[in-house]
Amino acid sequence: MIEIKSLSATYDNKKYLNFPDWQLTQGDFCLMLGPSGSGKSTLLHILSGIMQPNKGHVTIAETDIFKLSQVKRDKFRGKNIGLIFQKPHLIDSLSVRDNMFMAQYFAGEKTDLSRVKTVLAEVNIADKLNSKTYELSQGEAQRVSIARAMLNKPKVILADEPTSSLDDDNCEAVYQILAEQAKKNGASLLISTHDQRLKNHIPNHLTL
Ligand code: ADP
Repeated sequence: MIEIKSLSATYDNKKYLNFPDWQLTQGDFCLMLGPSGSGKSTLLHILSGIMQPNKGHVTIAETDIFKLSQVKRDKFRGKNIGLIFQKPHLIDSLSVRDNMFMAQYFAGEKTDLSRVKTVLAEVNIADKLNSKTYELSQGEAQRVSIARAMLNKPKVILADEPTSSLDDDNCEAVYQILAEQAKKNGASLLISTHDQRLKNHIPNHLTL
């Protein structure tokens, strides 16, 4: 489960972003909507523990994440939270396999080729294991980034505009893969987007 309470954030101590109290039950899906500048990316950064709020609580998997030290919070993120962005943020000089190994390494896990192969197969991209990431199409690169986010079987998946730069076919494929992976792991899925195409898929909305 994800829960936020009395949460607010600021970048410059002048303007404050206040977020509504909200919770998402384990395994449920939610779409985060709101105009540009309403705080969607900020909230995702807070939920992933990358940005510290100036007030309030964030509870993920029964853990108040801002009570953890920075080091423990980074480990917690690696193990429990799958992050997906609009751009895949893969390291071009490395193969798909080595990009995946890095995610295991940063979560403090041993590199596990069999798990890497399994997840790549689940997102229909097993044949790209040894490809360099610059050889991938946009849709393929986004699948790799989803596979990377799912490697450690996260309890929470946070996706920031994961489909906005994709054509209709890839948008549908990427959504279906995200939903399948979330269901398979019993994970909660929060997608921040202005992509109207996703509204039909997820009726539960958090509007900022
Ligand atoms: P959204 O994702 O909904 O477009 P953001 O979370 O990016 O909104 O931004 C919310 C507000 O915070 C905006 O007013 C934006 O200008 C401000 N903001 C975002 N990032 C920074 C930053 N690094 N420094 C200062 N202000 C920022």
